[in-house]
Amino acid sequence: MAEAAHSRVPLRPEIKALPEYVPGARPEPGVKVHRLASNENPYPPLPSVAAELAEELVGINRYPDMGNADLLGALADFLNAQADHGITSANLAVGTGSVGVLGHILQAVVGPGDEVIYPWRSFEAYPIVVDIVGGRSVRVPLIDGYTDLDGLVAAVTDRTRVLIVCTPNNPTGTAVTHSDLVRLIGQVPPEVLVLVDEAYLEFVRGDDPVRALALVDEFPNVVILRTFSKAYGLAGLRVGYAIGHPEVMAGVRATVTPFGVSSLAGRAGVLSLGARDELMTRVDGLVAERDRVVAALAKQGWQLPETQANFVWFDLGEESLAFAKAAGEAGILVRPFAGDGVRVSIGDSENNDALLSFTRQWLAGR
Ligand code: PMP
Repeated sequence: MAEAAHSRVPLRPEIKALPEYVPGARPEPGVKVHRLASNENPYPPLPSVAAELAEELVGINRYPDMGNADLLGALADFLNAQADHGITSANLAVGTGSVGVLGHILQAVVGPGDEVIYPWRSFEAYPIVVDIVGGRSVRVPLIDGYTDLDGLVAAVTDRTRVLIVCTPNNPTGTAVTHSDLVRLIGQVPPEVLVLVDEAYLEFVRGDDPVRALALVDEFPNVVILRTFSKAYGLAGLRVGYAIGHPEVMAGVRATVTPFGVSSLAGRAGVLSLGARDELMTRVDGLVAERDRVVAALAKQGWQLPETQANFVWFDLGEESLAFAKAAGEAGILVRPFAGDGVRVSIGDSENNDALLSFTRQWLAGR
């Protein structure tokens, strides 16, 4: 077919101007490196989960259940297990990773010109999903790596539709406390959806940790975003979920891509909730590794914001790209943000030892 010089199909201006989503670096095929660029779980699926998933493969000529009843039921049981929050399927929406669910939440409530407030720097996808729906991003700078909750509240206008609190914050790892979150919600008009992005919830060990689930019943404008990609180690299958008031969540479910959660992803979610204790033992191990890495870095002389996630943040400013390049040459993939800092995931002890020896050498050569 002869290739036309150009297509005359006009793209929407906001789509042409979209910033690119830059994912963490991936290794060249066959090259063994320490993969610390994407906050992934370093461990492969549990053998029990993998074996049952293999059985699911025989049915993939059929569509999955469009309502994801098994996954929603398992999630509701899990969410009510510690304390009965009265969560039912009506409070839930699932999607293609939590970034997919985030897109649907914005589609449901943000129209052209509406404002979405979030801390910055934070998760790379926020500005992109806001632009896609034609919304306007309002970025509130972090203070020394910590979310400025008062700044978020002060940024609210009558055009604000969503205010995002990412806790722990990607990429700095800092967490807000439950009392501070409750105070923020009390200061925000009830028409503004407060989205609590808890992608790294399971790694939090600080004082007064956020208990967002307890807030959904009391505040009909609070929505929680969670994922199976991090603590549960299912990043490759793409499944995330949101919890909120039934009326809001009905709107979110109305926007989702039909069959967006594949049968394999849905089944893996159910199986992982069933194997939660075993998976959380791994998370405890990762938290212990995080504490070891943080203590060792402090001893080397690094000053980092206090991380509650499965990654650490090096506030390297203009040195960020050079640090990431040198790490890559040492066989360690990390995630630089030019002119700002470098995020490094916590891996297994071998990965982390490699990181610590690299950071020591970096400081020595500075
Ligand atoms: N929220 C935050 C804060 C994240 O860091 C990420 C992944 N990097 C996500 C949401 C999306 O994760 P996923 O789509 O894999 O669920």
